[in-house]
Amino acid sequence: MNTRVIHNKVFEPFIDEEEIKAKVKELGKQIENDNRDRNLLFISILNGSYVFTADLLREIDLDINVSFLKLASYEGLKSTGKVKRLIGLSDDLSGKTVIIVEDIVDTGKTLDQVIEDLRKQGAAEIRVVSLLIKPEVYRGSHEIDYKGFEIPNDFVIGYGLDFDGLGRNLRSIYRTRD
Ligand code: 5GP
Repeated sequence: MNTRVIHNKVFEPFIDEEEIKAKVKELGKQIENDNRDRNLLFISILNGSYVFTADLLREIDLDINVSFLKLASYEGLKSTGKVKRLIGLSDDLSGKTVIIVEDIVDTGKTLDQVIEDLRKQGAAEIRVVSLLIKPEVYRGSHEIDYKGFEIPNDFVIGYGLDFDGLGRNLRSIYRTRD
């Protein structure tokens, strides 16, 4: 794999396509084995998770539902700065086991917000699968149930993840050099 230059920044190869494929398969089988006989709803957090979600769900041989949600920033009424809220959530979640599908968990702030919103919607049980986790910076309150790759605190792109809009269509994952 060669380096990539995006918006004048150099990205070096980090996790190749075959490694990703094997990991996604492994995660899919784990989820399948742990969640038989449950009323499963996968909630994919856009935009970055779209590639991972498509591949992961095709590794799971169960009857499942999937929804796609986006986080929208808005100014809070109090002067607490920007707050993010889930948009697009119309399903009634009562009695359902929700599995949140994330591409990457960094500090865990986003994930905590998503979990809070889903609890309010009545989800019976919430689990999380993330392809990438940065353990050095993670400060979230929820244990990640299904972890793909634990990575250092570098900025990564590819396989759905972007740098300023570009790079989502790369088949492998790349990271910044500096
Ligand atoms: P957190 O709230 O966990 O700090 O950040 C999570 C969000 O930040 C991710 O869903 C993603 O949008 C973005 N993010 C965090 N680290 C990276 C990274 O290395 N690369 C890219 N492309 N986005 C990242």
